[in-house]
Amino acid sequence: MTEEKLSTFTAPKGTYDLLPPESATFLAIRERLSAPARRAGYGYIETPVFEDVKLFSRGVGESTDIVTKEMYNLTTKGGDELALRPEGTASVLRAALQANLHKQGNLPVKLWYSGSYYRYERAQKGRYRQFAQVGAEAIGAEDPALDAELIILADDAFRSLGLRDYRLLLNSLGDQRCRPAYRAALVAFLAGLDLDEETRRRAEINPLRVLDDKRESVQAQLGDAPKLRDHLCEECKAYDAKVRELLTANGVAFVDDPKLVRGLDYYTRTTFEFVHDGLGAQSAIGGGGRYDGLSEMIGGPALPSVGWALGVDRSYLALEAEGVALDLPAATSVYVVALGEEAKNVLFAKVVELRRAGVATDLAFGVKSIKNAMKSADRSGARFALIAGDRDLAEGVVQLKDLTTGEQTPVALAALVTTLKEKQL
Ligand code: AMP
Repeated sequence: MTEEKLSTFTAPKGTYDLLPPESATFLAIRERLSAPARRAGYGYIETPVFEDVKLFSRGVGESTDIVTKEMYNLTTKGGDELALRPEGTASVLRAALQANLHKQGNLPVKLWYSGSYYRYERAQKGRYRQFAQVGAEAIGAEDPALDAELIILADDAFRSLGLRDYRLLLNSLGDQRCRPAYRAALVAFLAGLDLDEETRRRAEINPLRVLDDKRESVQAQLGDAPKLRDHLCEECKAYDAKVRELLTANGVAFVDDPKLVRGLDYYTRTTFEFVHDGLGAQSAIGGGGRYDGLSEMIGGPALPSVGWALGVDRSYLALEAEGVALDLPAATSVYVVALGEEAKNVLFAKVVELRRAGVATDLAFGVKSIKNAMKSADRSGARFALIAGDRDLAEGVVQLKDLTTGEQTPVALAALVTTLKEKQL
């Protein structure tokens, strides 16, 4: 391939490269979104980025956009039908079942994950074809306190980033006892509407999905649609009331959203979404709910479960929209400038020693004028520059320059590591 051709490559549509310095914020977002779950007994799980396509068609649902339109399907040379994962829950549950985690101790099995997901969506700001999520799943327990725990952990996660302009939408989708009657009432209602062919077909497979249709023309007709809330059985009502009570008692505000069904078919009872007001059309920054039937749908035993996924890319955009800058430690604390060959040898060894002592240290590489090297020191964000030429070293000192005040002091080479450690870098 010619060099000319190579230079024309760009990242595929709907994807983007994460580059410094923004990538540091991204890492910090992943870290902070997952920290509350890690403190609550959730263990880290990692699954393959591709799975048997049937895991998603069965698990996520045949009537969802995610499965019918957005999945990256691939056939391997060996003839296996795979798909890039469009979401995390089905894979995590598959992995837990495969490893029999649900038989190895007390339930629920609590897991968290962080990774990239793939949907062939109409790409726009905030909606990508590869995007990052941090997720948490609690498998094998039916307890409103567990639903409340997860919602509170997600809320704590967003708050820990400094986000404020978001709302929590909450709904209950009922269960296999009360949903059929509601479904029938909804089907009867939808039959009287002016819907296109595709929406009609969708209504036949899963009428609840029509409530989730974002188009104005459809939403305008749904004002009088029967509400699931009015059809919940006593058990679901009590369960829902308990979740709400726990949220309120623990300072998490929510808004009722009777139309919230979300884009995946596996949800039962509690469903929720966190929406941010500064992102335009793509307002969901996270969401989840209870999925009591999913395990059986993918061939496992009955394992009532609940979980969420929080969007990393959209959290980044939400921070931008609110003008919040994360307080990140500088990548480099000390920047070392050696003047001359001999000084370079001595200081290179000091750089290694400082790094081993836990001080983030960088060094001017290549032949640079002192002016250029000091520019690099400033650009690195380091608090101190360490400068030494052969004459300093002959006297057993290096010059330590505070890059904020400009003040420069000689420090004994032998005491360098302790001196810098004392400055708590
Ligand atoms: P979902 O599985 O659709 O509920 O997604 C969970 C979260 O992932 C959403 O609330 C978004 O924050 C994020 N998300 C989903 N799809 C995309 C996408 N195409 N681009 C960026 N973020 C996304």
